[in-house]
Amino acid sequence: MSFSHLGLSEKVLAAVAATGYTTPTPIQEQAIPHVLARKDVLGIAQTGTGKTAAFVLPMLTILEKGRARARMPRTLILEPTRELAAQVKENFDRYGAGQKLNVALLIGGVSFGDQDAKLTRGVDVLIATPGRLLDHTERGGLLLTGVELLVIDEADRMLDMGFIPDIERICKLVPFTRQTLFFTATMPPEIRRITEAFLHNPQKVEVSKPATTAVTVTQSQVPAGREAHEKRELLRRLLREAKDLKNAIIFCNRKREVAIVHKSLQKHGFSVGALHGDMDQPARMAALEQFRKGELPLLVASDVAARGLDIPEVSHVFNFDVPHHPDDYVHRVGRTGRAGRTGTAISMVTPLDQKSMAAIEKLIGQSIPRAEGDYEVRSEGDESTERPREARGGRERSRGGRGRSQRGQDRERSQESRERGHEPRERTREPREQRSHEPREQRSQEARERSHEPRHASDGRKASRPQADTSRVPSIGRPEPRRSQRPVDTEPGDHSHLPAFLLRPVRTPAGA
Ligand code: AMP
Repeated sequence: MSFSHLGLSEKVLAAVAATGYTTPTPIQEQAIPHVLARKDVLGIAQTGTGKTAAFVLPMLTILEKGRARARMPRTLILEPTRELAAQVKENFDRYGAGQKLNVALLIGGVSFGDQDAKLTRGVDVLIATPGRLLDHTERGGLLLTGVELLVIDEADRMLDMGFIPDIERICKLVPFTRQTLFFTATMPPEIRRITEAFLHNPQKVEVSKPATTAVTVTQSQVPAGREAHEKRELLRRLLREAKDLKNAIIFCNRKREVAIVHKSLQKHGFSVGALHGDMDQPARMAALEQFRKGELPLLVASDVAARGLDIPEVSHVFNFDVPHHPDDYVHRVGRTGRAGRTGTAISMVTPLDQKSMAAIEKLIGQSIPRAEGDYEVRSEGDESTERPREARGGRERSRGGRGRSQRGQDRERSQESRERGHEPRERTREPREQRSHEPREQRSQEARERSHEPRHASDGRKASRPQADTSRVPSIGRPEPRRSQRPVDTEPGDHSHLPAFLLRPVRTPAGA
């Protein structure tokens, strides 16, 4: 099967050929003819299946006829996150290069004024996150009564993020007669309900969900100590020792952890970017772009920020934290080993993660072997030494530190989802939370790393008593050598032991 049999226009076929794609993916093969026949489509497919082009290509063909009117977009695409919205726009830019189409992005973090000016000129394709779209309709700057085609992408993700009421409101603002394309990776009851309410006689197209991880990915787990500093040491060791590492995404469960790990790696000389919900839009896009281009070979990311990102050819995925939801594991690991390429996924597993690992292994239907090498955790299971440390972490627990219960972490996770789900409010609320948590933790974190303290707890009290801890045995069996053994490892500033491409570029004065 080739693209030329699907009914796409000559211009679109030329654009597809220019990208080098010769064969449509199963979702493209099935969905494109229905979209061109102006039928509603219910697509059950995940990212990585080529589903973006499955709606972008026929939309470009449809949009060749007709013109946009001021403030009345012709088509509307709803995406759960800013990054996904930006990625869809990139698809339009790539495949629609030969067409004079106005494509606008309505996402948080970009000025209302600029967006408004673009809407006034008239747009053919409006790509939006639900919160920002409703802000514009409520201000009266946008009319959805001209929308001929509506795409709801990653619907189950929208559900996770609390967007469904917004989607329902938006569906009432677009004409009843529009065509609707609805994509979801799973069909929980709430999603089934809205497909029944908003799709008319839909054509169902389904591509087999990668219920498991690709066979080309080598997965392994490495035992890790509970303490954050132990995990960071272990991560550095894994990065140094990784075979064939070209680029990697390092996943953390919480955005605060993303910031800490990012800073720590930077301090140890790694060339690394970060992607989390607290970063403003330009910073996120810049980090992603640098990673895509290979300027930053490492990216520390949270699930919310990284879901669905189109990042081809990632050689390694590291789970700095084991995800609480097994689906997230599949998504994370799906960043590597794509399209038949080989990949490596390494999970750092603390004693507290055993339950989550068991759930992951059950979902993917295979056990994840321990990595080869000496990765013993000496304190593993030694409750008599671990408990008092946890008990002392009372203050840290209340601040959301590592000693928290699984339920507490889940609560924070859904809190993050809620915040991301209501973008306009996110910016007024999150900075307050950041002020109250991050700088304090990060400051003490930084201070510990700078002074090479034993770093056994991340609360201020422990860090202020470094002498008491120096005799403790590091909990990783073959720990990163201490300063006396190999000074370069813990000496920020001298990173000669890192592979060159992982090193942060040193800025030299102009003309030097
Ligand atoms: P998506 O599922 O839309 O996130 O796409 C996943 C990846 O597949 C992206 O990197 C696309 O550029 C790529 N892709 C989409 N369609 C094709 C195709 N027909 N052949 C090869 N790669 C494709």
